[in-house]
Amino acid sequence: MSTNAWFFEDTLSKADPEVALHIAAEEARLRGQIELVAPKNYLSRAAREAMNSMVVFATIEGYPGKRYHAGVENFDAIERLAIERAKAMFGGGHANVQPHSGTQANQAVYFATLSPGDTVLSMDLASGGHLSHGLKSNLSGRWFNTVSYGTTDEGFIDYDAMEQLAREHRPKLIIVGGSSYPRAIDFQRVSAIAAEVGAATLADVAHFSGLIAGKQYPSPFPHIDFLTSTTNKNLRGPRGGLVVCRDAAMGRKIDSAVFPGIQGGPHPNVMAAKAVCFGEALRPEFVEYASSVLKCARILARELGGRGYKIVTGGTDTPFTMVDLRTRGITGDTAQKALEEHGITANRNLVPNDKESPNVTSGLRMGTSAIVARGMGETEASALAGMIADVLDQVAANPGKDLKPDANIVEKVSSMAAKFPLYPV
Ligand SMILES: *Cc1c(COP(=O)(O)O)cnc(C)c1O
Repeated sequence: MSTNAWFFEDTLSKADPEVALHIAAEEARLRGQIELVAPKNYLSRAAREAMNSMVVFATIEGYPGKRYHAGVENFDAIERLAIERAKAMFGGGHANVQPHSGTQANQAVYFATLSPGDTVLSMDLASGGHLSHGLKSNLSGRWFNTVSYGTTDEGFIDYDAMEQLAREHRPKLIIVGGSSYPRAIDFQRVSAIAAEVGAATLADVAHFSGLIAGKQYPSPFPHIDFLTSTTNKNLRGPRGGLVVCRDAAMGRKIDSAVFPGIQGGPHPNVMAAKAVCFGEALRPEFVEYASSVLKCARILARELGGRGYKIVTGGTDTPFTMVDLRTRGITGDTAQKALEEHGITANRNLVPNDKESPNVTSGLRMGTSAIVARGMGETEASALAGMIADVLDQVAANPGKDLKPDANIVEKVSSMAAKFPLYPV
């Protein structure tokens, strides 16, 4: 008998109890808490199965039909399925499903369209942009010259300012989309601005790609050249990224930008899980999922607004609601901590014209992708809005005090979580 039987047979808890313990603790946290951190979501059991299947070991550099190693025909079939489904989801002419993350999907577009020193016009972080859109401390900000547009005082994209900046700086690429911009983007206007100065356009739809696939948010196509997204946020898939091009003709450039431009081989198990997730997103039920995510985010906005909280832009067209806490005299950091003590996770976030640092912030971002994936709906969103307002009211009424969690709310959160179980134990 082989002496390394343990390698194929021992379970994690037997082989490495230390790591197993931390994983078990995370499972308990997931089951017991209510997840409103906007980028977080779950994965269907089927997609988890694909992630953890026998396809995980392979090295498959290259593309279907053009690989560098033998023994890859099953992967060609899986990748082709993922590509066809990605194109169908967004109505694009070409898709690349290999990016390891959203950041690398963006880097692929930069590699395909820019040279070092070129100018990029993107939204600043406090207005809702993403660090991979040219923040100084990110590779994108180091290699390219970033010019930023922002929002009006109400928090809406200032398209007139975008147009003026484009005329003045003649960017090679204009980026829209971000992590905390809560409104529908006028892709047609952006495309007109870009056309005037000869810029390419990128819509990074990481936070609302599921709403686009589920027809609850306007599609960037045909106005925008490139769409990038993470697959693990609102799209309810595995951790990873993708690039979709409007024109098939751009496909070759994007493919060589992903590999060998910025990555080596793709993660085969993640591609398999992406294929499963995209298949789910093409089913009619996904329209209901997306519509419920949006309705629940709007309930949070309306009901927190009704309790006297200022909602950035007064509402939302996305899976999340942004609260500006400055009118209540609390910081995003304090609010995040207070909610977590009650079993609700959400995250502090910069709001337009924020004077606090990114570690403190004046805002709170709450997303509904995960609660709806879990089976919750409008009733629970409304109950959560009430509990969140109760917690934050107490914090606002007791500045500087270290409050004990309200046992009544803790109990209500935990019984709501128990009513919506995750995967079978
Ligand atoms: C989350 C996010 C990304 C980056 O995704 P990673 O997978 O964490 O690299 C890029 N763009 C936007 C707008 C995002 O919200």
